Amino acid sequence: MHGEQIPLLSFLVPLNAIALAIFPIRWLSRGVFQSRLSGWGSATKVSISIWHRCGISVSPEHAVEMEEGFQMLKKERSSLTNASVLTQTQTKPIVIDVYWHIVAADIKQSKGWVPEGQLTLQMQELNRGYSQVGVSFRHIHTEYIINTVAFHKMWNDSDIEYNLKAWRRKGGPAALNVYTMLFESSKWLGFATFPQQYTKNPVLDGVILDFRTLPGGKLKRYNLGRTLTHEVGHWLGLFHTFQGGCSEPGDYVSDTPPQRSATYGCPVYSDTCDGGGPDMIHNFMDYSDDICLTMFTPGQGERMFQLMSLYRM
Ligand SMILES: [Zn+2]
Repeated sequence: MHGEQIPLLSFLVPLNAIALAIFPIRWLSRGVFQSRLSGWGSATKVSISIWHRCGISVSPEHAVEMEEGFQMLKKERSSLTNASVLTQTQTKPIVIDVYWHIVAADIKQSKGWVPEGQLTLQMQELNRGYSQVGVSFRHIHTEYIINTVAFHKMWNDSDIEYNLKAWRRKGGPAALNVYTMLFESSKWLGFATFPQQYTKNPVLDGVILDFRTLPGGKLKRYNLGRTLTHEVGHWLGLFHTFQGGCSEPGDYVSDTPPQRSATYGCPVYSDTCDGGGPDMIHNFMDYSDDICLTMFTPGQGERMFQLMSLYRM
């Protein structure tokens, strides 16, 4: 079923490791995983000629499907515990373990090698964003994987993605695995999986990210580290603020106004739908420039907390 195994030399460098180790990657036949979001068929990548914050695009039908699963699970859990699902204010702050997998072409920073200091800045940025909603992140481990093919191709090759994640992903549903690499010839900056996908595809769970989006990276306007904040929002169950456009139920969060489409740059004001108030262009789940992204709403915090408690705890 899995086709021929083609050995590919890869070098894994655990943080502080003394020596390089050589590992083969098992190569599965193309087609085993056609889509990063397989199981949610039409949640597909989209491409236009300007930078997208990320490659997640969920059709209204699949948003409904995901939401129905979430609501059903919430109901089941409530009946089991004879109480409503815990709310954010009822429990202690949540701490999420983070495992970094740095995929690089060699040990030069221009080739994907991310120094530890840059990861520290990224963790600070991530924690700053999520402090608003009572979630924090703890950096557990960093590993460096020197592999030119994966560095250049993983963002757009689901076989490479699956194999590398199957080989390297750490922890259970509550562990955040972040893979950095080059998004070559792409207008996207990152991808993430949703909590509802974990059961079907635990191997694929996590975030993949263009290394140039980390703080101090080379992507001007997108190098303050907020792409990760955005992608982790998906990983914790948030849709874009413009999900569903101006139509209800939009992003399934009551305190984010309806929004017709993504914001680019950092406009002073934008209001793309009738009623509901101006677009929330500073929300981390929009596509505005990094400097413009500064907030989550309490409703988004509550949604993340509920999805986390149902699917990741
Ligand atoms: Zn996104």
